[in-house]
Amino acid sequence: MRYRIETWGCQMNVHDSEKLAGVLEGLGYHGTQEAASADLLLLNTCSIREKAEEKAFSFLGSLRALKQMRPQLIIGLCGCVAQQEGEEIFKRSDLVDFVLGPRAIASLPLLLDEVRTRRSRPLDRGLRDDSVRFDGRLARRNPGPRAFLTIMEGCNKTCTYCIVPTTRGRELSKPAAAVVQEAEFVAGQGYREVELLGQNVNAYRDGKVHLGDLLGLLQGVDGIRRLRFTTSHPAHLSDAIVQAMRDCPTVCNALHLPVQSGSDAVLERMRRGYTVRRYRDRVDRLRAAVPGIALSTDIIVGYPGETGEEFDATLRLLQDVEFDQVYSFVFSPRPGTDAAGEPDDGEQALKESRLHELQQRQREIQLRKNQALVGCVTEVLVDGFSRMGDSILKGRTRCNRVVNFPGPGSLVGEYACVEIQSAGPNSLEGRRIAAVRP
Ligand code: SAM
Ligand code: SF4
Repeated sequence: MRYRIETWGCQMNVHDSEKLAGVLEGLGYHGTQEAASADLLLLNTCSIREKAEEKAFSFLGSLRALKQMRPQLIIGLCGCVAQQEGEEIFKRSDLVDFVLGPRAIASLPLLLDEVRTRRSRPLDRGLRDDSVRFDGRLARRNPGPRAFLTIMEGCNKTCTYCIVPTTRGRELSKPAAAVVQEAEFVAGQGYREVELLGQNVNAYRDGKVHLGDLLGLLQGVDGIRRLRFTTSHPAHLSDAIVQAMRDCPTVCNALHLPVQSGSDAVLERMRRGYTVRRYRDRVDRLRAAVPGIALSTDIIVGYPGETGEEFDATLRLLQDVEFDQVYSFVFSPRPGTDAAGEPDDGEQALKESRLHELQQRQREIQLRKNQALVGCVTEVLVDGFSRMGDSILKGRTRCNRVVNFPGPGSLVGEYACVEIQSAGPNSLEGRRIAAVRP
C-alpha cells in the first residue's frame, strides 16, 4: 500500500504531515512521490488565508479523474481546513473519504479502517491534543539537516483576524523531559539542527519550566549545534528568554517576531496586546543581548479600516527596525473571526498596491543588508541542492539567510565555510573555502 501527503501552510503542518507519515508507515504503508500511484492520499491543509484554503480545494478538484480511474483510492482531508469546515467538506466534495483534524492525528488508523470496512465517510475533529502527545520519535521526518519538534500546540490569544485558536484549540505544552528525549533521538538520527515549534511558542510552560529554561536544558544534547524556535509572540518575549538566547551557545542568532502593524491603533483593533513602542523595546533588548541577531516579522496590510496614516506608520517601522526578512499579506477575512465582521470599505486594489509598496521597500532594505555581508566568511549548514542547478548547493547561516554555492553532494547535511561573493534581496552567493568540523 502506498501513500502520498500533500502539505500546505506553516512548519506545524509540515511536521504534522511527518507524524501522519509515521502513523502510516507503522501500518505498513510506503511513501510514493506520485499521486497517481498512491492508494491513500492525504491533503494536509491550511486555512490561515482564503487563498491557502482555495489551493487545497482546487488540488482536490484535480483528483477527480484519478479517483474515477481508481475508485479504490482513499482521499483524506486533514489539517486546519478539516477542523474549520468539518461536515461541510463532505457536502462540498464527494471525493473526500474522511476528514481528520490536526489534534486527532492518532485516530488515522481507525478512520482508515472505517472507510475500508464500513464504507462510511468518518470525521474526527476531536481536540485530544495528539499533535503534542504524539511520540515525536515515531514521526517520519523529511530528510535534511533540520528536524522539527512540536513543543506546544494551540493558542490562547484572541487576535481578531486569526483562525488559529479555532483550528488548533487551547495551548498545551509538551513535558520538558519528553522534548529533551526527542531532541536526543533526532540527534541520534543524524539531524544537526532542531526547530522547536508552537503557534505561540514563547508561551511554553511545563510547570515552572519556561521556554528559556527549556533552551538551557537542550544545550546538553550531543550533535545539535543549532537550535531555533518559532513562532514567538512579542508580548511573551520575556527577559528570561532573551537572556537564554544570549547565554545558550546553540541557540541561533535569528528570531521571527511578528509585529503585524506599525500603528498602535491597528494593533489595538487587532487585539495584539502590545504597542509599537513596546515591540521596539523588545527589539532593542534583543539586539543588545544578541549582537548581530537577524529579525524577521509578519505584517498584515489592509486590515479593516486601515487609513493611509496607519499604513505609513507601518512603512516607518520597517524603515526604523530594518528587518532581515518580512512576510507580508493582505488581510483575508476568515469565517467566524471578529475581524471578518468588521466594516471594511478598503478597496482590494488599494490594499494590493500598499502590499506592493511595502514589499518593494523591504526588498531594498534586504538588498542593502545582504550586500553589506559581501566579503564575510560564514558557516552554512547545507540543506540540499539549489534550484539554480545540480552542482549548486543551498544552505542556511545561523542567521537563517539562504546561501548558494558550488560544491559536491557529499556536503548535504554538513557544515561548510563559505565566503560571500554577491548578494540579492533574498539570498547570498559565495564560494566554499574550507569545511568546518561539526
Ligand atoms: N502566532 C503568530 C503571531 O502571533 O503572530 C502568527 C501565526 S499565523 C499562523 C502566521 C501569520 O499569518 C500571522 O503572523 C499573520 O501575519 C498572518 N495571518 C493570520 N491571519 C491572517 C488573516 N486573516 N489575513 C492575513 N494574514 C493573516
Ligand atoms: Fe493567531 Fe498568533 Fe494571534 Fe494566536 S497569537 S491568535 S496564532 S496571530
